[in-house]
Amino acid sequence: MSHYKINKLLIGTNNKGKLREIRDLLPKNIKTLSTYKFSLKSPKENGETFEENSLIKSKYFSKKTNLICLADDSGLEIDLLNKKPGIFSARWGGKKGDFNIAIRKVYRELDKKDRNWKDKKIRARFICALSLSYLDKKIACVSAKVEGTISNEPRGKKGFGYDPIFIPNGKTKTFSEMEQFKKYKIDHRFKAFQKIKKFF
Ligand code: IMP
Repeated sequence: MSHYKINKLLIGTNNKGKLREIRDLLPKNIKTLSTYKFSLKSPKENGETFEENSLIKSKYFSKKTNLICLADDSGLEIDLLNKKPGIFSARWGGKKGDFNIAIRKVYRELDKKDRNWKDKKIRARFICALSLSYLDKKIACVSAKVEGTISNEPRGKKGFGYDPIFIPNGKTKTFSEMEQFKKYKIDHRFKAFQKIKKFF
C-alpha cells in the first residue's frame, strides 16, 4: 500500500478547528489544500458509523477535485445518553453549527436523564475516523478514541465544538482550557493519525 507517494493532499473538512489540527499533524513537505479553496459544500453524511461517514467525505471530495483526500468524521459519545450525540455531534449544533447550542442540548439531555448527574462521573469519549481516498477508491480508514468525562459546566476558551465540556481521563482541565498543542498530542484525531501516518 505504501506505493501511494502522497505529496499533495486535500483536507476534506469544512470545519476550521479540524483543518487547523490536521494540518498540524501532517508532515510539512506535503502540500495541503482545503475544501474552502474549491468552495465545496460537504456531502450528506448518511452513513451509520464514523468510518462510513468519513469515507463518504473523502470519496466525495476526491471525486470533486481529482486529488487524494484525507477526511475526518468525529464526535462525542456520552454513555448516559446512550452514546449520543455520536455521529450527530455536528448536527446538534443546528443549521449554523453553533457549538453553544450543541453544548446546551447536552446539558438539557443529561438533566432529563438524571437530575443529579452533576454529582456523578459522566463517562464520555471522543471518536475520530480518518480516511484516505482517491476518487471512489478507499486507500485507508482507521479510527481511535480518547476517554474522559463531562464537566459540570463549560470551561475554557480554546479549541472548538465540545472541547469546553470534555475532561480527558487523568487530567483536570477541559480540552478548551488546555494549550492546543497539548490537546493535539492526546486526542482522538492524534491517535487515529498515528494509525494512518505510514501513508505520508
Ligand atoms: P463532523 O465529523 O464534521 O460530522 O463533525 C464532528 C463534530 O464533533 C464537530 O462539529 C464537533 O462538534 C465534534 N468534535 C469532533 N472532534 C472534536 C474535538 O476535537 N473537539 C471538540 N469537538 C469535536
